[in-house]
Amino acid sequence: MKTVVIATNNAHKASEIAAALPFPSWEFKTLDDMGIKSDPDETETTFEGNARIKACAARRASGGLAVLADDSGLEVDALDGAPGVFSARYAGEHASDRHNNEKLLAELSEVPDENRTARFVCTLVFIDEDGSEHIARGTVEGHIGRAPRGEGGFGYDPLFWPDVFDGKKTLAEVSQDEKAAVSHRGNALRDLRSQLEGFCR
Ligand code: IMP
Repeated sequence: MKTVVIATNNAHKASEIAAALPFPSWEFKTLDDMGIKSDPDETETTFEGNARIKACAARRASGGLAVLADDSGLEVDALDGAPGVFSARYAGEHASDRHNNEKLLAELSEVPDENRTARFVCTLVFIDEDGSEHIARGTVEGHIGRAPRGEGGFGYDPLFWPDVFDGKKTLAEVSQDEKAAVSHRGNALRDLRSQLEGFCR
């Protein structure tokens, strides 16, 4: 069995990642499972840079096991790509999802519907035991609504109307499976799976 450490303490993300990479000889462990405390500062200006910071910190802390880290966020065109890598702390360090969403709505209050285009972006960095690296990316295009809708998901989901749902629902109004089928993280995981298939069995 090959142990792969998922560099997150988010149980939802961990189960989504494990389900998307069903390689029979792999077992996934979270940082918690390994008893590892790792919460490095995300000091880079790109999703890839910050995912690599998380992956390298988990690799060091695990003594060189294979690791997988992700970094993700929301890019809003009318805000020149903000909140971007600051998505989690848009309304301040340790800001709640509600405060981040309120700030986003306030920043966009004067922006007409046709200019509220946005995308979620996810970058995954996988570092194998031998130090070789695979990078995968995924996006989902959509636009930002004018009020939250839906109780599911997390983060900016209640404000995000994916184009693929044809203006009928936000990402907070679908099941986890429906979200994974179209989401930035789902797309990045499908990209990584196709890169890894073949050599990791
Ligand atoms: P991180 O990748 O855990 O650092 O996430 C960064 C931030 O981006 C989260 O705290 C959310 O605010 C936002 N974000 C990332 N992915 C999603 C998503 O699938 N739905 C809603 N918000 C997300």
